[in-house]
Amino acid sequence: MRIAAFFRRTAAVTGLGLGILLGIVGVRSALTRSRQPAFVAPTVPEFVDVGGEQAARLGQAVRFQTVSRDGSPPATAEFLQLHELLRQSFPLIHSTLQRETVGDLSLLYKWEGQDPAARPILLLAHQDVVPVEPGTESRWQKPPFSGEIDGGFIWGRGTLDDKCSVMAIFEAVEWLLLQGKKPRRTIYLAFGHDEEAVSVGGALQIAELLKSRGIQLELVLDEGLAVTRGLMPGVQRPVALIGVSEKGVLNVHIEAVGEGGHSSMPPKRTLIGQLSRAITRLEDQPMPRQLRPPTSDMFDYVAPEMSWPLKPLLTNRWLFDPVLTWQLDQGNSTRAMLRTTQAPTMLQGSPKSNVLPQSARVTVNFRIRPGDTTASVTEHVQKVVADEHIRVTAQPESATEPSPVSDPNSPTFATVGQTIVSLFPDAIVAPGLMIGASDGRHFARVADSVYRFVPFVIEPEDLARFHGTNERIRTTDYLRMIRFYAQLIQNLDAPH
Ligand SMILES: [Zn+2]
Repeated sequence: MRIAAFFRRTAAVTGLGLGILLGIVGVRSALTRSRQPAFVAPTVPEFVDVGGEQAARLGQAVRFQTVSRDGSPPATAEFLQLHELLRQSFPLIHSTLQRETVGDLSLLYKWEGQDPAARPILLLAHQDVVPVEPGTESRWQKPPFSGEIDGGFIWGRGTLDDKCSVMAIFEAVEWLLLQGKKPRRTIYLAFGHDEEAVSVGGALQIAELLKSRGIQLELVLDEGLAVTRGLMPGVQRPVALIGVSEKGVLNVHIEAVGEGGHSSMPPKRTLIGQLSRAITRLEDQPMPRQLRPPTSDMFDYVAPEMSWPLKPLLTNRWLFDPVLTWQLDQGNSTRAMLRTTQAPTMLQGSPKSNVLPQSARVTVNFRIRPGDTTASVTEHVQKVVADEHIRVTAQPESATEPSPVSDPNSPTFATVGQTIVSLFPDAIVAPGLMIGASDGRHFARVADSVYRFVPFVIEPEDLARFHGTNERIRTTDYLRMIRFYAQLIQNLDAPH
């Protein structure tokens, strides 16, 4: 009897507690305010590409093979031809803006503002492209450097990454000049030439040059994230992600050293076996996962726009964070937003099948999330490998720290978001973490905010086109990019 009463009472108390908890979850979910900018109709007219001129010019830009290859000098002649195309296509820019070349092939333009007190902004893109993987040329529906326009698309290497941005920024500024635009604040346009290589020449030098001139920018807008559709599970509407930070990079060599000798009399434990165990230990003990800005901010922006059951889940992160974090950790792309990732990519042993190696080495490529550093990663690897016969050496020449997280509450973030909603009215705007690396990271030293966003729509099937086969952009999407940049410059130039 007593036991039954006890259980009844416990059940009642538990039920009451659960009821209160559900009540809190429901109320919080209902009261969560939207962080979305209000729709404002664009003032820049739609670019109707009647004569096909703008698309044709992007096609022409694609034809110059401004390819970056690691360890090879830049394709100078191709870049110079691209510069000549820019000169011929955009006469107003070249007669009004100051132009200088930096690091031989990168370009910096300055559109002088009328108000010296207004802080300048900079639009950034890169002129170079990745090579086409040898042997895959025949899989392209149109030759990769043809710049052909067909089926409503502009085809070729660079149409998504990142000649579309280069050309759309030029088109937008040329159009604004044609309208008689005189900016209030100074506007810089910068175009690196080695973003796809190690990137030590172009954009980095432009950032250093601006620093040496004492210039502090209010905003840098680089390529990076985009308007994604169908990429965020459970969200029907497109999500426009503005990258507010990018991950750092570090290569670490893990090397086992020993005697070598003939493979007919191997020791019980070989160097490669030893090295493999070190890799396994590392995979078993990765850097810790953590849901922190900007990834946590992304959920805070998207959550109020969601419906049941995701909305109560994501608006009550105080309660559900452990579940959410666990769930995100299950997928490769979402895990990369939570953790510093580690990828063993290069393996070296002996040069011959019957020779035991005297040294065996693996290169592990780390992508460092904000909150970790190259030093904390190195320390982690040393601690986990913990083998006196194995050397762990960080490779500083390729290393970059994760970039600072730009403020999603700044007036410039609001302006970029507002402009996105003007041109992509059904999109949800949110800050995000850029998992790859781009030139924007060099500008943290000269800019209050660095945002990474390209104004086009990406769907799951487009992902493989970046650096891959059949890269192409829909012509209407490209024209909207031009409109976006023209509208953004207008909006950023309005006093706030
Ligand atoms: Zn790019």
